[in-house]
Amino acid sequence: MTQHSDVVVIGGGQSGLAAGYHLRRLGIEHVILDAQAAPGGAWQHTWDSLQLFSPAAYSSLPGRFMPAQEGEVYPDAAHVVSYLADYEKRYELPVQRGAWVSAVHRDGPYLRVETSSGDWRARAVVSATGTWTRPFLPAVPGRRDFTGRQLHTVQYRSPAEFTGQRVIVVGGGNSGAQIAADLTGTAELTWVTQRLPRYLADDIDGRALFDAATARRRALDVGRTDTGGVASLGDIVAVPPVRAARDAGLLCAKPMFTRLTATGVEWADGARAEADVVIWCTGFRPALAPFAALRLRGARGHIATDGTRAVDEPRLHLLGYGDWTGPASATLIGIGRPARDAARQIRDLLG
Ligand code: FAD
Repeated sequence: MTQHSDVVVIGGGQSGLAAGYHLRRLGIEHVILDAQAAPGGAWQHTWDSLQLFSPAAYSSLPGRFMPAQEGEVYPDAAHVVSYLADYEKRYELPVQRGAWVSAVHRDGPYLRVETSSGDWRARAVVSATGTWTRPFLPAVPGRRDFTGRQLHTVQYRSPAEFTGQRVIVVGGGNSGAQIAADLTGTAELTWVTQRLPRYLADDIDGRALFDAATARRRALDVGRTDTGGVASLGDIVAVPPVRAARDAGLLCAKPMFTRLTATGVEWADGARAEADVVIWCTGFRPALAPFAALRLRGARGHIATDGTRAVDEPRLHLLGYGDWTGPASATLIGIGRPARDAARQIRDLLG
């Protein structure tokens, strides 16, 4: 049997909840479908030592401040999960868990949402599927030849399982730097980055990132020169464990190797390093597979958007994937505004 809701939100992480908050405020009927069994989105699956790059008060969703975590300036992922679980309950957001959305189709005046627990018919759809379910691995020669273990950021939990092993961490972003820092002292670490690590100033946190992303969006909107946004500040937020490892001289990056061998990696000059494990901290892509049938993807794999609205399907809004769907929209502090704008546009669409 097909169920109906004016709006179907796909994904019950922070972006889906922020959408639910604003849809509820505007009195718009909606349901939030989430594949997972428990609240918290991707935060349920990050590594044990992960800490936010901002204090709690600057990591809040609309309507409710994140409470401080006892004894910590920078909350950990478990704290974010409890905050999201509490947020969902407090605003009575209609989340249905264990519902995997496989496809969205056009169906006359509706969008038909196919899920593992039956179909939905909606007048508008919000995609808040995040990126965690689409880890990206670069095509590096020899990847299949390597006989050791390879994993991606999404599979890394703690340094304990790598004790004494020769581990190569690939990636000069936040995940690479944090996981490399996590492994210092436990594993025999080699950290490899495509360019020299670029740390943001030590006193910069999520607020500054949000401001930089907003300033960039504003500049672009009025035709001014691109300010470069967050990327102009650097790639790595110097959260305390990263700062400590860096200052102790334990985070010395090597340039990217050119290939993997059966037992390690090799650089262009012929230098080699043997390894038991390679951890690919090489990023993510937006999880947009359910929208394949709508044929909206542009050249870079992105769906073209005007704000959060898909240009070629105005009944679809995208939330939380990065600056292209709103300044800093892939952060806790940044998702509120795009979620509000999407809810308002949906209200206008529904009349
Ligand atoms: P997610 O949290 O991934 O939630 C998406 C939900 O949708 C998931 O529950 C997923 O199961 C579900 N879903 C996906 N596809 C489907 C489908 N087809 N059908 C049904 N359900 C589906 N941000 C900060 O503000 N501060 C930080 O300090 C910070 N640190 C970060 C550190 C790391 C290592 C990473 C990776 C990100 C960090 N971020 C941080 C960024 C950001 O806050 C997270 O990426 C955030 O989890 C994105 O939220 P989301 O709701 O968009 O996606």
